[in-house]
Amino acid sequence: MERRCELCNALLKGTKGNHPSSCISKYTLVRTEYMCWLNHASVIKQYCAQSIGGLNIRGERKQQVIKLFKRIGEGDLEQVLNQFSSHERSEIIEFSVIELRRKIVSSLSQLSAPVRPKLVEIDIPTDITPEMASLLSEFKTLLTRRFEILIDKGHSRSPNYVYRSMIKPISFCQFLTQEGFVAWGQIGKTQLASYLDQKGTRLSNCLKRFIKYAETRKNPFKKAPQTKRKRGGSALIETPRPQIVSPNELTSFIKALKNTLPQEEYLFAWFVCKLGLTVKKTNDLTLADININESGRCVIKPAEVWVALPKEIEKTVVLLADMQNPLWRNLEPSVLIHFKLFAGVIESLNGYTSRVFQGKTKILRSSAIYAMMEMGHLDRVTLKKTIGVSMPTLAKLERLFSVDVHRKLDPEFIKLRNAHILGEKDES
Ligand SMILES: [Zn+2]
Repeated sequence: MERRCELCNALLKGTKGNHPSSCISKYTLVRTEYMCWLNHASVIKQYCAQSIGGLNIRGERKQQVIKLFKRIGEGDLEQVLNQFSSHERSEIIEFSVIELRRKIVSSLSQLSAPVRPKLVEIDIPTDITPEMASLLSEFKTLLTRRFEILIDKGHSRSPNYVYRSMIKPISFCQFLTQEGFVAWGQIGKTQLASYLDQKGTRLSNCLKRFIKYAETRKNPFKKAPQTKRKRGGSALIETPRPQIVSPNELTSFIKALKNTLPQEEYLFAWFVCKLGLTVKKTNDLTLADININESGRCVIKPAEVWVALPKEIEKTVVLLADMQNPLWRNLEPSVLIHFKLFAGVIESLNGYTSRVFQGKTKILRSSAIYAMMEMGHLDRVTLKKTIGVSMPTLAKLERLFSVDVHRKLDPEFIKLRNAHILGEKDES
């Protein structure tokens, strides 16, 4: 099969039967003598070629993205960006190499052109009984609305958000239909258990949310009022005891990581194992989530409040931020949101987590939160505002204490502790 470079049309030959798609591919052995964008005098063309070389998407989306880069490379940057749809702008930002991303984002902020990821569509299959199909379609509407609200509020969500969240619920309803069930009222623990058993899978959060919605018809993302909270979850969902390691074990694990990992990889691990952020949250941190406070210290906002960091951690954060965009201190959050702190640092998130966390990511994060609770950062609201940990997760971890310490805590003690972990108050 003959393959040509998508940028310069050079005829390519690859190693042992591979058919590389561009001059940039690491499998390309021989190319006919064309001037590829990779070696072009225009830096924009070079960046486009580098970006295409690093694409980790396939199929139609990849072809669309390559077309966008060709338009960027061949035209005037501002003009092309102006012609792009808000969705195309979002795609080009996501897949550009860092140098090109800086140029694009700064042009976009001057054009004040909107950037918005386009949702990946998912249809409700026809082999599902009508009552469950309409339940699924209501749930999909709810997810879509949530996606739009989150994006409007400046949060980042993958365009696959609704698609991914619907896969398990759809599969569960297909299973139930095949088993002869027609209405949700007939569904209980037995059906859920045999579904999970047949699929050889565990109960995912996506499915949990759908079940909650099906049972209550209420928005599963909305927090129930504190007083009415039940401890054990809903009728269908039982909450297992969370697994953790002791704070001492956690500390020595973190120390070992510090001695073996490069500082930027250690920083990622620190956010999960010490600060108790999820891997996703850590990976999604952008330069808009960091700031320099009045005392000149770099602070971070993983959830709702700014948090001060230990000096050496702070140093690495500043180093990474400078690497992503040296002008970050003077840029608006609307610009900074397009620069992820860990972009280009962690090559493959799955590879990193399995190498560093050895499949124990959840345990490590829970242990970090548990350790904070044990140290006295116990008040739920503070933990939620500081690291964004959910109330159900906190409630589960609280069950590990033999006494419900949450209720016994002296309010003055909480205030003192809050002052200790909150960046703003730290310095005053
Ligand atoms: Zn080429």
